[in-house]
Amino acid sequence: MKIGFVSLGCPKNLVDTEVMMGQLVADGHELTPQPADADVIVVNTCSFIDPAKQESVDTILEMAEYKKTGKAQRLVVAGCLVERYRADIQNNLPEVDAVLGTNELNKITALCEGLAPKEIAAEPYLYHDMTARVFTTPKHSAYIKIAEGCDHPCSFCVIPQFRGQFRSRRFESVIREATGMFAQGVREINLIGQDTTCYGEDFGMKDGLAALLGRLAEIPTDFPKWVRFLYAYPNKVTQKLLDTIAAHPSLAKYIDMPLQHASGPVLKRMKRGANADIFLKLIERIRATIPGVAIRTSMIVGFPGETEADFAELSDFVQAARFDRLGVFSYSDEETSKSFALDGKVDSKTIYNRKRSLMALQRKISRARNRQLIGSELPILIEGPSQETDLLWEGRLMSQAPEIDGVCYINDFGPGAPRPGEIRTIRVTEAHDYDLVGELVDLPETGYVSPKQSPVSPFQILNSNPTKPLSAATR
Ligand code: SF4
Repeated sequence: MKIGFVSLGCPKNLVDTEVMMGQLVADGHELTPQPADADVIVVNTCSFIDPAKQESVDTILEMAEYKKTGKAQRLVVAGCLVERYRADIQNNLPEVDAVLGTNELNKITALCEGLAPKEIAAEPYLYHDMTARVFTTPKHSAYIKIAEGCDHPCSFCVIPQFRGQFRSRRFESVIREATGMFAQGVREINLIGQDTTCYGEDFGMKDGLAALLGRLAEIPTDFPKWVRFLYAYPNKVTQKLLDTIAAHPSLAKYIDMPLQHASGPVLKRMKRGANADIFLKLIERIRATIPGVAIRTSMIVGFPGETEADFAELSDFVQAARFDRLGVFSYSDEETSKSFALDGKVDSKTIYNRKRSLMALQRKISRARNRQLIGSELPILIEGPSQETDLLWEGRLMSQAPEIDGVCYINDFGPGAPRPGEIRTIRVTEAHDYDLVGELVDLPETGYVSPKQSPVSPFQILNSNPTKPLSAATR
């Protein structure tokens, strides 16, 4: 059969999509990037906040149309929306033929074939290095999910309810997977999880992420490589972790650390603790330990009880911290979250205004920080011809994570034309609010080998992606 996929939400969900694709191909099915061609369509959903839920339902209904207009016989819905609303989907969306949750990825083939899947105890699922997987990211860049679930009690968050308790992948399994990827010519690996900084705690490891990063940095390759991790929890960012990043050139000088707010009283109601002073000291320690480090964070505005004074404190903090990247979410009142019961709900107009105000503040900071880079020569990972215009190529600096951050446009190839996946040196010549422009200054890599794995793309969704926070880097 020809199977088509829609993958919504975060990179963790994308890895689940890649695992489901891998199993279907291993079981003899074919993948198609054209919804009209598909015999079966799978929508891997997201549901952590209202806009994400709405997008998931819209996409399911959009894909259901192909059962009327295309070849599709079956529509299968997977992912976080199923975990939260399985019965609602089964009762209210007759277009949907089958559903599977985030711990049931190994049922995908049976459900696509319309067979009753073998009842598998819904063990908390975690793929490993021998799991079949089809890559959907560009050949030179890939995600590795190093853990699943979360044990933190953040009162606004429902993710632990459907992703389950925190569990790490086996250390050597991650090392083998990465070694295999580098052998395929992957140049950049992004480690992901709900909270990567807890890695190994469930095995009794201390500073497990630092140990893992150290080992990954030592995997020998004949080409320069980058390893980045996303989703750090602030009070888990240890000196050992920072020293490890500083010690290895291939570890990205990049810290993605959602702080969610800066006002002590708001953070207390969020069940996250800390405050602006504690965070400013942490940021100072990060910048002192890792020269040139880029720091990304995300904030929530409009949390129940957030006063004008709390928001002013958050704005002052953002002004003082001068983050390289900042994403802002509007508080989403999720009915199964602990914060749903809190008083002091903030009206939507105020939430909207606070979001715009914080974004405007960050846009100025981002522009000023980008301008400081003009004239500097930095390593750049070549992505390929720009999606914006074919007059330019684009790439990313170590300080620019895929999908969520800006890019660096290349308007002069210098001593030699670039090739996708190559890591070259760029001199920054122009700076914009979120993106940069520059010219290549070094010779092409000798012994360059084009990365091998060939990505298969899920369907391009017609409607834009409302789950992406209105972040400074969203163009
Ligand atoms: S750490 Fe992240 S995933 Fe875990 S509960 Fe908090 S917000 Fe949710």
